[in-house]
Amino acid sequence: MPSVDSERVTSPQAELPIRVSVLDRGWIQLEDLMGGDAAVIRGARICYQSEARSPQADVRLIRRLMAAEPKHNTVFEHAVFRFGVKCPIFVARQWLRHRICSFNEKSLRYCIAEREYYVPQDISDATRQEYVAHMEASFDLYDRLLAAGWHPERARAVLGTAIYTEFIWTVNAWSFMNWLYKRLDPSAQWEHRQYAEAALGIYRQVMPVTAAAFEQSILKR
Ligand SMILES: Cc1cc2nc3c(=O)[nH]c(=O)nc-3n(C[C@H](O)[C@H](O)[C@H](O)COP(=O)(O)OP(=O)(O)OC[C@H]3O[C@@H](n4cnc5c(N)ncnc54)[C@H](O)[C@@H]3O)c2cc1C
Repeated sequence: MPSVDSERVTSPQAELPIRVSVLDRGWIQLEDLMGGDAAVIRGARICYQSEARSPQADVRLIRRLMAAEPKHNTVFEHAVFRFGVKCPIFVARQWLRHRICSFNEKSLRYCIAEREYYVPQDISDATRQEYVAHMEASFDLYDRLLAAGWHPERARAVLGTAIYTEFIWTVNAWSFMNWLYKRLDPSAQWEHRQYAEAALGIYRQVMPVTAAAFEQSILKR
């Protein structure tokens, strides 16, 4: 049941950060949230100069806005998240294709890469051994190049896309739902989907009314 007080939708007070582990060494964490369900309602109600007349009126309004075609989508932009993410570089490359948001990523020009990389679980022992040996050899070469005086920005070229990166992602709820819709789809890469599933779980916690409406009308779950 969505969170409503006697008159209107309220935003649950979640203790931040909320971190969820993803893959073997990654995570996604909600670090900051502006607005929540209440901000969506504020954005919608200013259009009509109206107020909720019953406890469930705001909930119904959010459901209606989410289901309507064409969408009154800008009201969802008043809630804004700042996530921290640790994921393999190949996942980050896909994530960074989503333009309506702000990113800042750990730089391997200025930082030395940690010897950390993603290893898929669903592979045979022999393949796993080969995979790990390959990644370890790339890090050995990386270390040798650094020791020989190479700049980190050039030495990183020998590392694979399974190595982990970290970034900050600030995104409004509308753009966030576009990312969820695309990256929860079965056609999206499994590893990226794990981050989307984790983020959806966080969404349910901090914006229960909008998340429920999104799941019902858009994801049709
Ligand atoms: C399963 C899957 C496979 C993919 N495969 C590939 C691939 O092989 N190669 C590849 O390059 N990409 C691929 N992509 C990335 C995809 O093409 C999009 O770049 C990515 O999903 C971001 O979506 P978006 O543009 O909706 O999001 P955002 O960039 O966040 O944009 C949000 C919305 O803003 C609007 N918008 C933003 N910029 C513009 C603009 N310049 N002009 C008009 N409207 C704009 C659009 O309505 C857009 O939907 C794939 C994505 C998925 C989910």
